[in-house]
Amino acid sequence: MMPRDGVAQEADAAVNSARVRERLSEWIAQRIEVAAPIAAVALLVVNGLGFLWGTGKSTVFSAASMVWQSVLLLIEAWIMRRPSIRRYAREVGLIVASLVFASMVLDGWVQGEPTTSALLLAAFVLVTPAVLPWGWKSQLAFAAMGTVAFLATLALTVGVSTGLSTPWGSAIIVAAVASLGIAMQLEAVHTAAIEHALRQERERALYQELVDRAVEAILRTDINGSIQFANDAAARLFAVDRQELLGQRFFDFVAIPTREEVVRFFAEQYRGNDDRALRETPIVDAKGNRKWASLTVRTLRRGSQRDGFHIVARDITERVRIVEQLRQSEVRFRSTFERAPIGIALVATDGRFLQVNGALCQMLGYSAQELCQRDFQSITFPADLAADLALVGECLQGLRDTYEMEKRYVRRDGKLVTARLLVGLVRDSHGIPVYFVSLIEDITERRRLERELAQAKEAAEAANRAKTMFLARMSHEIRTPLTGVLGMLDLLRSSALTAEQLEYVETAKSSGETLLALLNDLLELSRIESGRIDFQVDTVDSHRLIHDVCRAFRAQAETKGLGFELAVAANVPQFVRIDPKVLRQILVNLVGNAVKFTTQGCVGVEVQWQASDDEHAGTLCLVVRDTGPGIAPGEFEHLFEPFAQGSAGRRTGGSGLGLAIVRRFAEACGGGAWVESEWGVGSTFHVRLPLEVAAPRQPSQQTSAAVAEEPVPAGARKRRSRRVLVAEDHPVNQMLLRRLLEKGGYEVRLAGDGNAALACLEVERFDALLLDVQMPGVDGLELTKIVREREARGECFSRSGGTVPIVVLTAHAWAEDRERCLQAGANAYLAKPVHAAVLYASLNQCLPAEQEMEGEPARVA
Ligand code: ADP
Repeated sequence: MMPRDGVAQEADAAVNSARVRERLSEWIAQRIEVAAPIAAVALLVVNGLGFLWGTGKSTVFSAASMVWQSVLLLIEAWIMRRPSIRRYAREVGLIVASLVFASMVLDGWVQGEPTTSALLLAAFVLVTPAVLPWGWKSQLAFAAMGTVAFLATLALTVGVSTGLSTPWGSAIIVAAVASLGIAMQLEAVHTAAIEHALRQERERALYQELVDRAVEAILRTDINGSIQFANDAAARLFAVDRQELLGQRFFDFVAIPTREEVVRFFAEQYRGNDDRALRETPIVDAKGNRKWASLTVRTLRRGSQRDGFHIVARDITERVRIVEQLRQSEVRFRSTFERAPIGIALVATDGRFLQVNGALCQMLGYSAQELCQRDFQSITFPADLAADLALVGECLQGLRDTYEMEKRYVRRDGKLVTARLLVGLVRDSHGIPVYFVSLIEDITERRRLERELAQAKEAAEAANRAKTMFLARMSHEIRTPLTGVLGMLDLLRSSALTAEQLEYVETAKSSGETLLALLNDLLELSRIESGRIDFQVDTVDSHRLIHDVCRAFRAQAETKGLGFELAVAANVPQFVRIDPKVLRQILVNLVGNAVKFTTQGCVGVEVQWQASDDEHAGTLCLVVRDTGPGIAPGEFEHLFEPFAQGSAGRRTGGSGLGLAIVRRFAEACGGGAWVESEWGVGSTFHVRLPLEVAAPRQPSQQTSAAVAEEPVPAGARKRRSRRVLVAEDHPVNQMLLRRLLEKGGYEVRLAGDGNAALACLEVERFDALLLDVQMPGVDGLELTKIVREREARGECFSRSGGTVPIVVLTAHAWAEDRERCLQAGANAYLAKPVHAAVLYASLNQCLPAEQEMEGEPARVA
């Protein structure tokens, strides 16, 4: 089998030889086309002239033969124009030549000049085929045929034996050989020429194809830039038909702002020695689209002359667009990086700074160049380095990709910078760590402010604690004498007095009560302000509480000649969960103000319940209306601030604490308080308290605040009096308590302090102990603890056996004091000043039932 290349070559050769033959036929056809009519005309003219001058042949046959030959030649020339015939030009030529030859031979015979005829024919046959490259084989055949015909003619006319030996015969033989040689030579020359032409043609076709199919626009212009040649790509680039492009100026397609520059560039190329140059330029195509092209320009030379430019233009619009986008993105990134208000650094995996921004340089006091010669380890505060390195290590081990920490850097000037560091590890496409991106925020100032704030808060809290302590102490200091004053007034009132004296006593008592209320308000507000609201949430009979409060104020209102209306909506739940003190104080403050400030008209209290989705919860809405002076415009905002008084308040007096307490309480419950008022017409105060609905239950143990009715003193009802040990250091209070208790039928033993009380307990048993908390030496709480401890060890101090009831008395009015008392082991707690009724009620509750008191068990030592 022939190798593939060989087959291809053979096929190529076959195609080539066919094309050469075709070319030869074409070459012959072209010549026949020209030569045949000329020969026909020449034949006619020469013979015609000969006929006229009498030198030519004069027979009709000769004339007809000549015409016939001319016609034959003309027909040949005519049919040669058909492409299908041209391919067979040689064959047709041969046939026509044969016919002409035959006609001549016949004419020679008819004219009786066979030799001339034979010579002409031999010349024709030998020369014509030799000149026309019919190929050496046909030429050989012709030469042989001509020679044989000639020799045959000679033999017929001159004689066979002498035919070859005649000079004509020898000449014909030489001519035949020569014609054969010429024909062979000519064929070789023709074949080579045609093959060369074919090669050139093929190369031209190849170049044409290359140019036509080129992606780049290829143009040729004259020295003025006028386009003389353009390929398809050029037509596409300039969006114009290829033919239309010819004659247009190349520079007209260059965008105007750069046109002059490009023309100068071409001029430089024209003048310069470097005949090739590259340049990128914006162009505008025929449709007005702006594009970018890269131009390779080459000056064309003809001899020493330069006669134009060869331009290769490539459409780089997309590339330029992408490059521009990249550039813009780079610019954006750069400016983001540079202008970021936070420090940004790219850090190599070994800690070297690769790139840093201005904010970081400013933060650390180094220039970018200096930082890029360092690593983060060298500027990290030593104590923080280990933690940072550990996190870096975790990143590099692939345990994490980011981390966040707070660390300190050492600035160039040696100062410390506290920073929040956010680090992300960047990996390449194979997951290999490349560098870290670090965001470094300077929080030195923030930390300083936080420290200062914490110190300020601490100081404020300390001040608040000091204030609270002060208030507590003052409360105690004021309450203690006030207890004496009010108690004595109570005693005085129950003694035999004249009407005038009774009025004085009542006035003094009322003033004392006011002072006490103010003291309570101050304490309450201070407690709220210091965040020590300690609600004793309990199940409260809301209806009862509201009616109780309103009953008291109704009486006051009626005394002032005011109407008083209370409307409790039917859906208000009877039992709710709230600190009763809160609800009571809100109502007391609002209704009290309404009654206080209103001089005519009426006061109305509305209580509504706003249910919620939860059937066990809702909002208690309290509305207190009055027809009082109203609130002046501009006063609304401040009324709920502590110590703020409106025009009405300034006229009647007051502390300005009531509304502040109302709002604070309401807000502490999750609700709110506000007022609507028309100056000179009246006011409406609203309070909303989100509350839980409670199941009804037995009222809780009464404390000092919960006792409202005056009970019968326990001691007064007993068959034998009950013995109470009173431990109190203040002489006025000692006297007051003694009097109150004795009045209630109790037998009283007095002790001036805790130690004296302990001494009393050693010698006597008691039904109850009434201990003041604050006493010199062993105070009331300590004494309570001692008693309870000793009881736990088996001692007994009670007349009725078991543990002795202890009621603690204190001037401290806060809830935590109550807790402390109860925790120490007291049974009840009473805040000073003590009302007789409250004292009796408390003792009543603590003391065992009467029948248990009959016998007095022996005291265990
Ligand atoms: P006080 O009543 O002790 O002055 P409050 O905090 O209870 O303190 O009230 C603050 C101020 O609000 C009062 O001074 C008064 O001017 C105004 N105010 C309160 N209630 C009413 C009311 N019902 N009608 C008119 N003004 C009122």
